[in-house]
This record gives sequence, structure tokens and C-alpha cells, in this order.
Amino acid sequence: MKQKIYEIPIWDAYALENCECPVCSIEKKAEDQFIETLFTEMVMDVNLNPQLTSAFRFCHEHFEKLYKYPDKCGLAILTDRILYLEIEALQQAKKGTAIKKSLKPAFLKKSSSNSTHTEKECLLCNKLSNDMRNYCDTIIKLWQKDSTFKSIFAHSRGFCLKHFNEILINNTASSDFKEKCISLQENNLQRLQEELQWFITKNDYRFVNESWKTSKDALLRTILKLIGNYNTKI
Ligand SMILES: [Zn+2]
Ligand SMILES: [Zn+2]
Repeated sequence: MKQKIYEIPIWDAYALENCECPVCSIEKKAEDQFIETLFTEMVMDVNLNPQLTSAFRFCHEHFEKLYKYPDKCGLAILTDRILYLEIEALQQAKKGTAIKKSLKPAFLKKSSSNSTHTEKECLLCNKLSNDMRNYCDTIIKLWQKDSTFKSIFAHSRGFCLKHFNEILINNTASSDFKEKCISLQENNLQRLQEELQWFITKNDYRFVNESWKTSKDALLRTILKLIGNYNTKI
């Protein structure tokens, strides 16, 4: 079956070896590409780009990633834009003008939490979570229509917990798909647990001469399974 362009990242991710979550691997690439585009194209068009003319912020993790990117002047332009919007919102609040919800300073928002900037307000987090929702849709569609993909999926390692939940709450997921997905996830969590337990055993001096089998990186893979490899610093 001929692959559609938006399906290619999924086929590529499912071809990766030792991949605990194909969606995480797509997300990581999408994040790198979006940061690159942000600096190479969007910053130049800061007044034209609709995403940058409306209110936007970055979460803690994404500001760190943006700061690691070499283009400090580009980041200064973006940060200047955020400052401009924050000042504008304060001035409107002072005048009592109605402020757009997204522009509203945190102190004016009715909130039960103490958090000032939530992930949902981060331009990158928003973009990635929308894109990943679309990729989850496509995974479900591919599973339904393509027998080759169905077989690859059955031999895959499931998902990280975040994307496992994301795919299960997807409205387009059939009960058959959900059932297969849950079994796949359960088998893979058990497989990881065995690898992790062998990692623990290997740290006992009595087993020092035994083979690591596949457990040498089991601790890292287990953590990535639990929290996803996106936005992790390990
Ligand atoms: Zn994931
Ligand atoms: Zn973010």
C-alpha cells in the first residue's frame, strides 16, 4: 500500500529498534523541527505569524531548550514579544478593559492551582500535543486498514504511559484496537519489569560474571516508559 506523507513518520518510528514508544520518537523529532522552524522562519516574521502575534508563552522546559539553541538574537526577539504582550495585558487590566483569556495575567485568572504558567499555554507544548493527537489518529487508522502495520504494531513495545493513555482515549479507537493495545502494553510492562529485575540482580556481586542480557539500559528504558522521552533531561 502506498504510504501517505503524514504516515511516513509513523512507519519510520515503528522501524526503530529498542523503541519503547514510537510516538515519543515522533514527538522528539517534531520538537526539534519546530524549534528549528521557529528560529529560521517564524522569528523573521514575528509580526506576520499568527501564532506569534497572539498571546504565547513557553513552559520551563521549552525555554531551556530554546536557550540552548545558538540563535540568542532570535530568542531575544521572541522574548521581547512576550514582554510586549505581558505589558499590554497589564495596561489593559489597569484600564479595566476586557482582556483576552489567553492574554490575561496569571494573577487575574481564577485558578485553584498555584501554577502561573501551565503547559497548555506553551506554544511548543500546544503544537506538539495537537500534532501527537493527529499521529495517534493515524496510528489507529493504519491499524484498521493496513495488515502489514497491524503485524508490526503487534510486535512493537507499546507506548510510554502518556501516549498509551492518549491513544486509548482517542474517539476513533475501536474496542478491538483498545483490547489489543492493552494486552500489548501489559506484555511490554512485564517484559520491562523482567529486564529491570535482572538489572537489580546484576548489581549483586554474586552475579557479576553473568551476562547483562538486554538489561544494561533497562533502568533508563523503564523511566522513559513511565514518563516518555519527551522533555526528559536524562
Ligand atoms: Zn511516548
Ligand atoms: Zn512547553
